[in-house]
Amino acid sequence: MQEIDIAVIGSGIGGSLISALHSDKNLILFEKENNLGGCASTFSRYNHSFNAGATTFVGYEEGHIIKKLFDDIGFIPDIKKSDIAIRSMQKEKQLDRTSNFEEFLTQLDRVYPHENNRVFWSAIKELDERFWRVKNIYYNKYSLRAYLHSFLSLCSLIKEFKFSLLKSASSYIKEVLYDISDAYLAFIDAQLLITLQTNHKEIPLLSMALGLAYPFHTVYYPNRGMGDLIESLLKNVHVKKDEEVLSIKKEKSHFILHTTKNHYKANKVILNSSIYESAKLFEDKAIQRYYQSFSFSDQSAFVVYLHVRSEKELLHHYQIILDSIIPHAISNSFFISFSDESDDKLSQDGYSVTISTHTKARFWEDLTKEQYKEKKAQTQEFILEEFMKKFPHVKVEKVFSATSKTFARYIKRSNCGGKAMSFKNLLQTPTCTTPFKNLYNVGDTIFAGQGWPGVALGVQVLHQELVE
Ligand SMILES: Cc1cc2nc3c(=O)[nH]c(=O)nc-3n(C[C@H](O)[C@H](O)[C@H](O)COP(=O)(O)OP(=O)(O)OC[C@H]3O[C@@H](n4cnc5c(N)ncnc54)[C@H](O)[C@@H]3O)c2cc1C
Repeated sequence: MQEIDIAVIGSGIGGSLISALHSDKNLILFEKENNLGGCASTFSRYNHSFNAGATTFVGYEEGHIIKKLFDDIGFIPDIKKSDIAIRSMQKEKQLDRTSNFEEFLTQLDRVYPHENNRVFWSAIKELDERFWRVKNIYYNKYSLRAYLHSFLSLCSLIKEFKFSLLKSASSYIKEVLYDISDAYLAFIDAQLLITLQTNHKEIPLLSMALGLAYPFHTVYYPNRGMGDLIESLLKNVHVKKDEEVLSIKKEKSHFILHTTKNHYKANKVILNSSIYESAKLFEDKAIQRYYQSFSFSDQSAFVVYLHVRSEKELLHHYQIILDSIIPHAISNSFFISFSDESDDKLSQDGYSVTISTHTKARFWEDLTKEQYKEKKAQTQEFILEEFMKKFPHVKVEKVFSATSKTFARYIKRSNCGGKAMSFKNLLQTPTCTTPFKNLYNVGDTIFAGQGWPGVALGVQVLHQELVE
């Protein structure tokens, strides 16, 4: 039986970052799939490559957690700046989210006029900048040191943000953007849904600021796909692809892992599997109870993949906002990412397109094969039709899609997207440490949530635990 110090289970953003930070240790990263990256992987079908989920890369700038972790690893990603982060399209309205604040504001005043636009968006930008300046954001449980450290981190946030920490996003909108039009509010909610998985009604002002300010940061396009970025990040890590961890037995001072290929003895185990799926890996009842104690977040994704040809130039990202909810989804908007025309992997003989919207995992449960196929076709056709209205010049050569069932089959999670965090649910939020010695979590189902920046904040906390 091979003996290892650290076993990391899953090569999502979280598993990959923590493995790369500890590549000098006796560490093995296990990934059940051949493609690395989980929601941030790139896969091949019909001889073309597609980004499975994540397409935007943000935070590679001085003072930001992503840049800091990459520098610590000694990794420079192969990325290209998206000059226009997202083009938002709502009926005849069109608004470009650019990092240039004045340019954005000029467009905003034209598309969604309001006398307090500058006040509102300046506050959003400033709150976001202040948040990323706060060093040592930390949230963890299960030891006196962890509680104390979390308390001190909370104190520094309170000192920095004072009452705006407690203010709700909806009361701030009401106060500053009074009499906001339905279309403007739909635009704000559509942006929040991509970044925070929720709308303005559910979150505090600070979360809204982090969600809305996302495109004020430089948004990057990962050349050759997000999966390629993960593969490069892991170049010095001992990775076992196509090797699923089937069970983990906790012994007194170590863990025994049974995989589809072998058995391993590990001193420490880091789970990058979703928190909602991890109980299944253990026989130990106490560990099972711990993982089962987190209420399942039903949020998931519906993704349409296209291979298209286009004579016209295309931006990297668009968001289409509709009047009504997409069939079998929970959103009236969808997010489109086109591959860059110079990308020699994704843009071979045309463009690779990933279109995503939000759905619930339960919409796709308990269906016969026929019902499932029919429902999936309805959502795909609806999105394709709306896509063609905006891009009539595009010739679609291949189309297929993924539901929560597809994600469950490939990356063992039907939930996609973390829960938006607020003070109300902070204490229930899973952390990187567990009540069990040397068993850790990483990824977007624990603190601090989804996407590169959210997962990286959790990685930073875990990294501190492992080195202390
Ligand atoms: C459609 C969509 C679009 C998104 N767009 C963006 C975006 O543009 N930008 C952005 O920053 N974020 C985006 N996100 C969010 C981001 O992709 C996720 O938050 C992030 O990738 C999750 O990382 P993770 O560390 O939780 O790992 P996951 O992605 O959940 O990966 C976990 C990995 O563990 C593996 N695994 C699980 N169980 C086992 C086992 N037993 N043995 C071996 N391996 C196992 C899985 O196969 C998988 O590879 C998007 C998400 C989705 C779904």
